[in-house]
Amino acid sequence: TVTARGIHKRFGDTKVLHGVDLAVDKGEVVVIMGPSGSGKTTLLRSLNFLEQPDSGMVQIAGIQVNIAENTPYTSRQKKDIEQIRRKSAMVFQSFNLFPHMTAIANVIEGLVSVQGMPVKAAREKGLALLERVGLSHKADAYPAHLSGGQKQRVAIARGLAMDPEVILFDEPTSALDPELRDGVLDVMRDLARDGMTMLVVTHEVRFAKSAANRIIFMEQGAILADCAAETFFSGQTTPRIAQFLGQVR
Ligand code: ATP
Repeated sequence: TVTARGIHKRFGDTKVLHGVDLAVDKGEVVVIMGPSGSGKTTLLRSLNFLEQPDSGMVQIAGIQVNIAENTPYTSRQKKDIEQIRRKSAMVFQSFNLFPHMTAIANVIEGLVSVQGMPVKAAREKGLALLERVGLSHKADAYPAHLSGGQKQRVAIARGLAMDPEVILFDEPTSALDPELRDGVLDVMRDLARDGMTMLVVTHEVRFAKSAANRIIFMEQGAILADCAAETFFSGQTTPRIAQFLGQVR
């Protein structure tokens, strides 16, 4: 479902990703962990080209884009990137809802403006998605009147609206007070159980233990470990991972 090969990315003189390879199968939940600055967010954003990789290959939903260093995108590649974006929903740490639009309007925005779905049908679908994240009663509320956890659940419903092949979560609970995190994590667990393919950057060990099939551990722009969640948390990996887990627990 998602494959990346040899992803390189630098910001100025700083090399942030050193040729990262990654594969996520349909229905898999893969959590990316690692210390601050290791390149987790940059990797996630490179997969749907919110960040432009310097070189490498990304394939999502069968659409493949090869990037060669210092070569501008061809019009074909731009179209393919557009397709990849549509097939990969992104959930951000900071929610990124439109403040002037109600919850339901945020959810159906892409359906109406990108997919051209009639508003009535889009509203029906949007309400069902809000129901799925436990917020149908807040359909007409504006973001300013929602808690952080509710905003993030609306953002997840918005991602689901486009029937994505994969959802990319970038520290979805980091901006939330601890008591609001569980509601979001519960929604994510439900999605995982329903077979949604998910790639999640997070420091939430409990979530990773209970929902992830696989853990990818990044350090300094490279993948140091890619293993089953049980193995990762077993204490039978490497001293570096044990040390890291000692810090985040
Ligand atoms: P965190 O857990 O703190 O979010 P991370 O593992 O997600 O960290 P990234 O956000 O991917 O790490 O950042 C990796 C490195 O790239 C850091 O050194 C960061 O300062 C740098 N970096 C990220 N984005 C930019 C940018 N737009 N311009 C310059 N440097 C950047």
